[in-house]
Amino acid sequence: MIETGTSSIEDQLKKLALDEGAALVGICSAESIRDKEFSNPNYLLPGAKSVISIAINLNDEVVEKYLSKEDQMALCLEEGITTKNLKRIAEKIKLFLEEKGFKAINCDCNYDYRNINKKSKTTIVSSLRMLIDLINKEKDESVELNKQEEKSLKFLKNAIIPGLRKTPMNLMPSLSHRCVAEAAGLGRIGWSGNLITEKFGARILLNSIITDIKLKPDKPLEKNPCMICKLCEKSCQGGLFARDEQQTIIIAGIEEIIAKRNNYAYCIAICSGMAGQNKFKDWSTWSPFRFDDIEKLPLDDTVIEHVQNMFAKGIEKGGLEAENVYRLVENSYIGRNNKPSEDFRPSCGFCQLVCGATMKDKKESYNKIVNSGCIE
Ligand code: SF4
Ligand code: SF4
Repeated sequence: MIETGTSSIEDQLKKLALDEGAALVGICSAESIRDKEFSNPNYLLPGAKSVISIAINLNDEVVEKYLSKEDQMALCLEEGITTKNLKRIAEKIKLFLEEKGFKAINCDCNYDYRNINKKSKTTIVSSLRMLIDLINKEKDESVELNKQEEKSLKFLKNAIIPGLRKTPMNLMPSLSHRCVAEAAGLGRIGWSGNLITEKFGARILLNSIITDIKLKPDKPLEKNPCMICKLCEKSCQGGLFARDEQQTIIIAGIEEIIAKRNNYAYCIAICSGMAGQNKFKDWSTWSPFRFDDIEKLPLDDTVIEHVQNMFAKGIEKGGLEAENVYRLVENSYIGRNNKPSEDFRPSCGFCQLVCGATMKDKKESYNKIVNSGCIE
């Protein structure tokens, strides 16, 4: 432990994080999480020794109104502002460490992937924007495309639509903040795969700061706050969780039991807002769109092709469906951290948001979801 003045650098870092608005903060060694490729901090900072995990909780009242479908925009702003606050706090910690002569990385909170080709990112995103605008114009009966626009539309369709039919569904984060948070003692991975904290349940957002100073790590939580109530599983329209089956994962040397997963393409379709209903017919997410044929959706990997086609068709249809695909592509290539908060547009996230702090909170939230009806 390095002593600076009267308190240790660890205490100073934690005080700084809490003073700046973090609700939870902890430290883990880089070594404790480097066994998983998606949580190895050396990818972002070669020679990493420690990682600091910070969390901010979401406002319960805002979450409840989102779950009961009274207010989507309030949660959109809450998530956007919380993300910006996490980035701001991480920047303060980064500067604090750099002033002391250490290297530090302020990570992105989300939408930062290793296996995405970001070299031509602005071209891809701006070409997709142009294509959607031309499709919308073509469908507008009050205007006509000129010759040049017709040519561009044909070219962009041929260049972009086949690529959408190959959209990857297995993106790997630059750093898994959940693994960091588990190792740093902020919470434990629950049945849903989200981080569950003692004080806020799963209603938190995370960020991490990687550094090359060796800090004294915190201990992981001994008791997992997950109550295995499985209300997260029941709140999932996407069918991501295989019913009543479990799998074991190891995070930071700790064995966690989580719900067995079906293909992630389900969650991507629902979370991108491309579909809002699957198994249950009497309530939906915030999306007004539906899978073409719910009954025939496979649970195996062949669902990937189905979802890829859905993205391509969404662009061809134009309008709101195309905007959902655009948002997903833009977020994946350019990230979401610096976007205006109004652009966050959550559509689901129910498996996380249903999980309030107490069992009573979780049950009440679940009842709100299943009684919230369908967005048409
Ligand atoms: S909703 Fe229940 S089962 Fe799911 S993560 Fe939260 S406590 Fe665990
Ligand atoms: S975000 Fe929605 S679709 Fe994705 S796993 Fe959670 S509940 Fe299911």
